[in-house]
Amino acid sequence: MIQLIRGFKDILPGEVELWQYIEKTARSLFEDFGFKEIRIPIMERTELFARSIGEDTDIVEKEMYTFPDRKGSLITLRPEATASVCRSYIQHKLYSKDPVQKYFTIGPMFRRERPQKGRYRQFYQINAEIFGVDSPLVDVELIFLMVTLFSRLSVSDVETHINSLGCPECRPTFKAVLSDFLTSSTGTLCSDCIRRKDRNPLRVLDCKVPACREAMAHAPSILDYLCPACSQHFETVKTALDAMNVPFTIDKRLVRGLDYYTRTTFEIQTGSLGAQSAVAGGGRYDGLVKALGGPDTPATGFAIGFDRLAEITGLNCNDFIKTPDIYLAALGEKSLSLAFEWRSALCLEGIKTEMDFGDKSLKSQMKRADRLGAKHVLIVGDNEIKQGSVILRNMTTKEQVLIPIERVVENIKANLGASPQLE
Ligand code: ATP
Ligand code: MG
Repeated sequence: MIQLIRGFKDILPGEVELWQYIEKTARSLFEDFGFKEIRIPIMERTELFARSIGEDTDIVEKEMYTFPDRKGSLITLRPEATASVCRSYIQHKLYSKDPVQKYFTIGPMFRRERPQKGRYRQFYQINAEIFGVDSPLVDVELIFLMVTLFSRLSVSDVETHINSLGCPECRPTFKAVLSDFLTSSTGTLCSDCIRRKDRNPLRVLDCKVPACREAMAHAPSILDYLCPACSQHFETVKTALDAMNVPFTIDKRLVRGLDYYTRTTFEIQTGSLGAQSAVAGGGRYDGLVKALGGPDTPATGFAIGFDRLAEITGLNCNDFIKTPDIYLAALGEKSLSLAFEWRSALCLEGIKTEMDFGDKSLKSQMKRADRLGAKHVLIVGDNEIKQGSVILRNMTTKEQVLIPIERVVENIKANLGASPQLE
């Protein structure tokens, strides 16, 4: 038997209903906040990710699915959405009417990581990006949006962590200070971090190797090196979060894996997922649009890990599984063909209807109706048809009523409408 690829997964009926509900909740929240949906391709030129995410990041160094297409140019399955959304913003000059644009996108991402609980090679993200606003208030709007989504999904065990990464003005000073600190702790760092310490010292701060984490507990904080403008930006973020009643923790080690982030950076963490504690992350990337050849445009965004969110959502999947309103139990050939006609007519009226297409006994059809959780069963037998009416049985109250077969669909509708069981 051919099995799916390691690190990939199926989202089966029974689970997919929860995913649909999460997506619906996110979409309606985005609409309320004025975000428009954008759909971007699954593949891009490798160069786009290499340039925007940064050569020294885990994603570009070791996690991308990159291969030559038939003519030899390198393409990559997208590991994240921001680079593509920026490419699209620039390519279609989406800034020309109004530089301020707010987008969301939902879909699969691909990273060739070691598969484990909460870590897949194809996973899903809910992304939001805001272009053209440098005010810290939009950073807060994004955090508020995520926190609201989590609370609407009854997710309680989450914490918001924030930090600032400064800007090209002040970050170099911090990088130099951090580099000196790292040189003095070389003995305790992992081999990846020893390599990163000169090329991209900030990355060492979020290394997951326990020895590195321990060494980094004493690392200097970038917050002590922010320039006045970045410092003011961060202060406003904190004040506005307080005003919106969003609790947060300042986390000086929060740097995120991507090179293009500036100023505010944030992560939502949970205690419910074991080692994979990050449910969402994001922040400002004021330099990226320009670096990719567009106009100088401030931008900020987030990515929520859909798989991890689905796992910690407090809502029960069973709440969303739709059961049939009516199960048509047909007995005999004539009944079967009539029931088949009625079924389509009922479905078109928005009444969820199931039936058995084989010639089964009433007992076995009733059993199946029960298994499917049908609210009613319409018993259609050749005898009933001869007498001009069929039996509608309410599966909860066990009450049975006779439904005339002339204008049967209307009669059923009227009956269901009167029934308190039907929502
Ligand atoms: P992590 O620290 O867990 O590797 P990350 O910093 O690589 O996360 P981002 O690039 O910020 O993650 O992506 C945003 C969110 O996407 C993460 O917070 C996480 O919930 C989710 N995510 C990232 N990689 C995976 C994966 N391989 N499988 C499932 N979800 C993932
Ligand atoms: Mg990662």
